[in-house]
Amino acid sequence: MKCPICGSEKWLDMDDLRNHQYWWENGKLKVGDRLGFQACRDCGFVTYERRGTEEEMHAYYKSVYRAAVGPSNWASEGRRNEYRKRMLKDVLAGSPRRMIDIGCAAGLFPRMFREEYGWPNEMLAGVEPTDGYREYAKHEIGLDVREKIEEFKGEKFGLVVYYRVLEHVWNPVGELLKAREILEDDGILYGSVPRWGEVELDDPTTGVDNDIESYYHKDHINVFTDNSMRSALAVAGYEIVTFDTTVHGISFLARKGKVGVPIREDAEKFRSLFKRQKEAMRLVRAKNPQDAIKEYPLYPDAHMMCAFWKENMRDEKIQKGILDDAIKLMPGCVKMIRQRALIELQWAQAPQDREKRSEAMRIAGRMLDEADAVSPGMDDHWHHKAYIAYMADGDIETACRHWKRGIAVNPLKWEEYGNYIGLVRAGKPLKLNTPPSRGDEPGYSGGVVQMVGRPKFAGMAQGMGAGLGPIPSVEVANVSDEKPTE
Ligand SMILES: [Zn+2]
Repeated sequence: MKCPICGSEKWLDMDDLRNHQYWWENGKLKVGDRLGFQACRDCGFVTYERRGTEEEMHAYYKSVYRAAVGPSNWASEGRRNEYRKRMLKDVLAGSPRRMIDIGCAAGLFPRMFREEYGWPNEMLAGVEPTDGYREYAKHEIGLDVREKIEEFKGEKFGLVVYYRVLEHVWNPVGELLKAREILEDDGILYGSVPRWGEVELDDPTTGVDNDIESYYHKDHINVFTDNSMRSALAVAGYEIVTFDTTVHGISFLARKGKVGVPIREDAEKFRSLFKRQKEAMRLVRAKNPQDAIKEYPLYPDAHMMCAFWKENMRDEKIQKGILDDAIKLMPGCVKMIRQRALIELQWAQAPQDREKRSEAMRIAGRMLDEADAVSPGMDDHWHHKAYIAYMADGDIETACRHWKRGIAVNPLKWEEYGNYIGLVRAGKPLKLNTPPSRGDEPGYSGGVVQMVGRPKFAGMAQGMGAGLGPIPSVEVANVSDEKPTE
């Protein structure tokens, strides 16, 4: 095959680095088949050998890839929308333009333009190959969504969106050229792809799926680095306006421009980088985070595993110090900043006088603000900030406002956060659930901060008298003076 970016036919095969068994066993690859993972020897673009035909691939996305909309779509799209609003703030500040979201799934991004910014529905459109999503977007969201971009031939749009699409498509440059045809001359192209290369090994998180194979998922047939994304845009005749890699992979805004040439990267360099990432992931799975960090320092989960190591969990200074050092190594890494804030909040529960505790909580709140400044839209941050406002300052109004913000971002949190609103309106204390893990085995324990004492709907009923029948009695734990690590 020809390299979609530079046209070369010279490839560096990297399939030997992959675990084929993983794909055979989950039925995503026929037993005996190769993945075809390779890098272009001329420009360094990493991509997979194309299999079958483009039509067969379309058929896969039409009905096999995902069936239909699930509740998590609302949560994930809500979070992304907070970030996307920031990327598009200039567009959103102007008057409405015709916009199209290519690969729009359930249509929740175009819906945001209508619901939050008042853009007329007839200016919004989408393309979605998956039947279950497309029909939902058409009938439930009420959008003009078609199966293929070609069905919009001859029409023009002021904003064309490709959010997490280009890593899936047969020919990313060909796709960008199609977008160019429907883009008005002064229009904006907004895109986002996962980011690979010399970056934080930040996805997946630890767990059974902590595996190089799900990181380099086989449906992501185009593996973009910063340079290859820039190259694809250049050869398709775009000029980059904004290129942001702080969070959510690579995000860019581009306009029509002159046709440029690709940036050339060394295919061998990618091969050795891949090996290092793979080894670092293996070491984390083997519970050896120190060596994983030596192999690949930009690995948040490895640093977290150190911070939650049994011995380290007993010492506030050590635990916080590990995370502070990791943040210095990866400034702007939301995952680390957030974990640091949660640890601050956790230790604020240690025995100390009320004012000291409140001050420690406020510090945690400022850290969460710092994380939100990098990556807006994490609904659980609103939850933690609500907890802090209530417990440190007794500020019920601010707390409830924060929970409502969290529900707005992620409607699936309605029951949980609504319940907290009920509890605090009823004047009940909330408890931070400690310790973060049993501490009997080393390892990362995940979310850390949880509330306890919330029988379903009890708080809602008590706080709001919401006509839910007799008010059940509710056991709410008092703020504990236990040490976080026992
Ligand atoms: Zn190439």
